[in-house]
Amino acid sequence: MADENGILYLCATPIGNLGDVSKRCIEILGSVDLIAAEDTRRTLQLLNHFGITKALTSYHEHNKKAKGEYILKLLKEGKNVAQVSDAGTPAISDPGEDLVRLCIENGITVTSVPGPVAGITALVLSGLPTGRYAFEGFLSVNKRHRREHLQSVRNDTHTLIFYEAPHKLRTTLEDMRQVLGGERRIALARELTKVHEEIIRTTLDGAVEYYSGKAPRGEYVLVIEGAREAQPEPEECFWSGMSAAEHVEHYISRGMDQKEAVKAAAADRGVPKREVYNEYHNR
Ligand code: SAM
Repeated sequence: MADENGILYLCATPIGNLGDVSKRCIEILGSVDLIAAEDTRRTLQLLNHFGITKALTSYHEHNKKAKGEYILKLLKEGKNVAQVSDAGTPAISDPGEDLVRLCIENGITVTSVPGPVAGITALVLSGLPTGRYAFEGFLSVNKRHRREHLQSVRNDTHTLIFYEAPHKLRTTLEDMRQVLGGERRIALARELTKVHEEIIRTTLDGAVEYYSGKAPRGEYVLVIEGAREAQPEPEECFWSGMSAAEHVEHYISRGMDQKEAVKAAAADRGVPKREVYNEYHNR
């Protein structure tokens, strides 16, 4: 019996240069019943550029649960839906992943209209090994989680790919330097496929230095050389196996008073002093 459900099309759109949209992508966007867009205004600009008039609905991080059910209902009624993210390939560091899973669980056919991905575009331009790589997406805004994430890949020999926003770039580079080591090579790929595309190939020391005198601008992909061999624990993270209370005790044993020790431990861990203080006193 023929499948009476509709199809979910994951449509990759340009990451900057509108010329990168595929012919098939335009055809699919023009033929589906509905386009689910992460940012409807941005997608509307794309549709207008190609003269496509089509019903749009928003599907993003904050409405993905309810909207996912709505889209599923339409697919079950036989409607075809295209999913489009802000830029690049849906489901790569954007909410598309959840819709794909929901559709698969409900027996809906999901297919891809492939195209640009910022991470792969940066990887091939980085000059770093492309044979084995690990896509790491965005680091957390929480300092402790960010450093834990970096710790977890410190000995990984794959080339590492990260996404980063310009306002967080300096902090991220500093954390990367501390955890991964300043000599690691890095390629910072910004404004890919756009007029001001730039690839800065340097080391983590060099990148920190470069941005100490220059404001980061545009969208970035950071491609970092994998570990060459097991890295020794960096001095900054001598405390990684300690509880917060042990961390405070460590500083006290080195001559600090309690207040200084709580402050130093909180700074190392990137958490509020109050949190460390409470753990120390409830130990
Ligand atoms: N789905 C997208 C993809 O396929 O790459 C990624 C979406 S993610 C929300 C957005 C991030 O991708 C940006 O913060 C930046 O790190 C990266 N990015 C997107 N476009 C870029 C570009 N033209 N140049 C450099 N990085 C870009």
